[in-house]
Amino acid sequence: MIYLDYNATTPVTVEVFEAMKPYFCEEWANPSSPYAFSARPSAAIEKARNQVASLIGALPEEIIFTSCATESNQTILQSLLANSDQQIIVTSAVEHNSILEPLKDLANIHILSVNQAGLIDLNELEMICSRQRVALVSIIWANNETGVISDIQAVAEICRKYNILLHTDTVQATGKLSLDVRETPIDYLSLSSHKIYGPKGVGATYVRTGAPYKPMITGSQEQARRGGTEAVPLIVGFGEAAEIAAKSLAERITHTKKLRDLFEQNIQQQIPGTYINGSREHRLTNTTNIGFRGIDSDMIIQLLSHQGIMVSNGSACTSSALTPSHVLLAMGRSYEEANEAIRFSVSHLTKEADIHTTVEILRDIVNSIRG
Ligand code: PLP
Repeated sequence: MIYLDYNATTPVTVEVFEAMKPYFCEEWANPSSPYAFSARPSAAIEKARNQVASLIGALPEEIIFTSCATESNQTILQSLLANSDQQIIVTSAVEHNSILEPLKDLANIHILSVNQAGLIDLNELEMICSRQRVALVSIIWANNETGVISDIQAVAEICRKYNILLHTDTVQATGKLSLDVRETPIDYLSLSSHKIYGPKGVGATYVRTGAPYKPMITGSQEQARRGGTEAVPLIVGFGEAAEIAAKSLAERITHTKKLRDLFEQNIQQQIPGTYINGSREHRLTNTTNIGFRGIDSDMIIQLLSHQGIMVSNGSACTSSALTPSHVLLAMGRSYEEANEAIRFSVSHLTKEADIHTTVEILRDIVNSIRG
């Protein structure tokens, strides 16, 4: 199998799995229990908190473990909506559905449009922030479908200027870009373990010290900020994955850029009628979103899958829903174009031979469809 869908999810690294193992059958105590048997699971959670905090330059006490980034995103939205009292939430048209869905029926929302490159207009953001009462700005750091990277530094400066809280969904940026909350004044950030070679079922929210926060699930765990007995093995795995991601960042960036660029070059040389969606300049090094003129992407995806190559047309959460990508539509692509798009996302595990094989098979598929 050739897997080119690392933005959907990633495998658990062997070291990560090894780190998790003791916390299933040996160190299985409830970390909140009062006796000595709980000391190791409890310490393991704190180690993981440190590991995740260091990945983004945060303090350990600013990290809250959750079940996934969807929970993190929605807790922040609910937290601020509960507080908002006639204020609006500002977000963008290219956010992940875990942000857009809960906001869709609310009146006090402003959705920023994006240009063809997939980038928001900072002047529009500044205009809204200067004229309206804004409770929260939430902007995705790197888009899951196109890899387009927002200018979060500039967004943060605008929010700072008008004293507005800023949340960013960093699920796709984590482990692929350098993120440091000491350099970029962000108040909230959502992270997911399974996109960085950690286990599924665990995420984290960064909440800057002093920023308002209202738990969605109440209870005494996580300093009363997220109830429910902690998923110790998953949290440990997330911590380990975060530490590896921090150490391997530069190497992973170099490898993925080389292979992604090679893939794009070969596609453009060998397959006519193809085009890239989104900014090529402001983009994750592992992602490319390519349109194949006149061909429905689902057909290509299924034919590739029959040949053992796994790719998708965007968000794993919506790819089975057969609706064209809201991200590409927001970027001004037509329905036809949005239906032609396929996302390819490589990783440090991808080999050059995988790229050549995929391009060859893709070329044959496209030629046979076009006749
Ligand atoms: N945000 C983005 C940008 C994503 O790509 C995803 C997952 O695809 C999520 C949020 C949701 O993450 P999780 O699967 O941890 O809920």
